[in-house]
Amino acid sequence: MSIYTKENVSDLLFSIIDAIIIVDAEKDSYNTIKKQGIFEKLVEDEGSYKSLVEKLWFHLNNNPKKITDDYHVFIPMIGQFKGKYVDRINLSIEEKIHQVQISIYPIDESCKKYIFILDELDNSEYLRDFQTARKLDTMQNTFLFSMYVDLIKDISYSINVTELSDNPQNYDVKYTEWRMMIVNMIWPDDQKLFLERTDPDWLKKNLEPGRATSFDCQMKNLEGVFIWVKLIFSRAATTNDEDFRFVFMVQNIHENHMKLFDTLKRYEELASKDPLTDIYNHGRIETEISNSIEGFNSDGKPVSFMMLDIDFFKKVNDEFGHSVGDFVLKAFVKVVNDFITPYKFAIGRWGGEEFVCVCYGMDLEHLKPIAEGLRKAVEDAEFEKGIKITCSIGLTQVTKDDTAQIIFDRVDSAMYEAKTSGRNRIIQR
Ligand code: GH3
Ligand code: MG
Ligand code: MG
Repeated sequence: MSIYTKENVSDLLFSIIDAIIIVDAEKDSYNTIKKQGIFEKLVEDEGSYKSLVEKLWFHLNNNPKKITDDYHVFIPMIGQFKGKYVDRINLSIEEKIHQVQISIYPIDESCKKYIFILDELDNSEYLRDFQTARKLDTMQNTFLFSMYVDLIKDISYSINVTELSDNPQNYDVKYTEWRMMIVNMIWPDDQKLFLERTDPDWLKKNLEPGRATSFDCQMKNLEGVFIWVKLIFSRAATTNDEDFRFVFMVQNIHENHMKLFDTLKRYEELASKDPLTDIYNHGRIETEISNSIEGFNSDGKPVSFMMLDIDFFKKVNDEFGHSVGDFVLKAFVKVVNDFITPYKFAIGRWGGEEFVCVCYGMDLEHLKPIAEGLRKAVEDAEFEKGIKITCSIGLTQVTKDDTAQIIFDRVDSAMYEAKTSGRNRIIQR
C-alpha cells in the first residue's frame, strides 16, 4: 500500500472526479478546474454562479422544461452552504436522466467560496437510487416544500423543495423576507390572504402551541403554472410564549381540488335543471330573472322577457296519453332551444307547459322578429305521431324601477292576452 502517497492519491482523485469547480458566491462567478463526461457540455469554463445553481438544481425530476422566473427566489437560498454538503440530484440532459452527486466544500471562513465536486453516478447505483427516489416521489409529491421557522428569531431553516430535490436544503433566511419573496408566486387575488395569514403578528395571535392552521390558494409550480395548494402552518407544542417555532408546508391539492370543483359543478347543474326537458328549472330561472334585473340596473344594457305557453296542450294528453305528451313537451323544448341558440338567452321551465326566457341584450324591437320566428318554427314543426302544436307568447322589456314581480305580472298578462285573443300569437307589453 505504500505506493500510495499524498501526491499520487491527489492525482488519482483528480482523474476519477468528473468535475471540479471553484465557486465565488459573492462575486457570482465560477471557474471550472476540470470537467469530463456529461459535464463537458453542461458547465462552462467560467460563468455566473447563479446560472450554475439554476442548471444543477432546477433541471430536475425528469423535467427539462425551463423554470418560471419567480422560482429564482430559491437560488440565493440553495446557493449558500454553511458547511460541507452533499446532494444527489437528477439532471436531465438531452432527454436522458443522469444522477449526479454534488459535494460542496466551503474554502473560506465566510462560506462564500466553495469547491464543487460533481460526479455522475454509474448505472447500477443510479437505478437503485432511482427506484427509491420514485417511491419517495409518490409519497412526497403532494408536498411541494416545507421549512422550519422560528418566528421569535425571525429565521427559517432547512427547506425541502420536493420539486427540486429530496434532500433538505440548509440555508438561513429571515422569515419576514422569505414571505415577501414567496408572495410573488401566489395567484394575484390570493396574495392579500397570503400576506394576512403569513404575517408574524397574525400567526402569533392565531396559532396556538401544538395546533395547525391552513388555507388554500393558487400558487405557481416550477413551470409557472398556477395550481391549487394548501398552505399549512403547524406550531411546535410549548408552554413558553417566547417559543414560536412552526413548520410551514405547501401541499399540492390541485387534482383533488379540480375533481371537487367538477363534482360541485355537476351537482349545481343537477340542482338547477328540469329533469324532463333538461333546461333550467323554476328555481334556477327565477335566479336568472333577478340576476338579469340587477344586471340591467348596473350596466343599463337592455333585457327582455319572453313567456311561452303551449296551446291546448291538455288535448294532446287527452288524445294520445300522458307519455306521448311528455315526448311532445321535450321535442317542443328542443325546437325552442335550437331556435334561440344563436342568442344570449336563458330558458327555463316555469311549470307544466309554460316557459320563461330571459333575453339578454334585447329590446322589444329586436326581440319581436325573433319571437315571431320562434312561433313559426313551433307551428311548422311536426311532433310524435304527426302531432302539430302552436304556442302563445308574451313579451316585455325591463325598464327602470321594475321588480321581478312587476315584470312577471306584465309578461304573464301579455301571454294571457295572446291566449284570449286567439292563441298562436305574440303580444308585447
Ligand atoms: P291553453 O291553450 O289555454 O294553454 O290550453 P292548455 O290545455 O295548454 O292549458 P291548461 O293549463 O288547461 O292545461 C295544461 C296541460 O298541460 C294540463 C296538463 O295535463 C299538461 N301538462 C302539464 N305538465 C305536463 C307534463 O309534464 N307532461 C304532460 N304530458 N303534460 C303536462
Ligand atoms: Mg297551455
Ligand atoms: Mg299553461
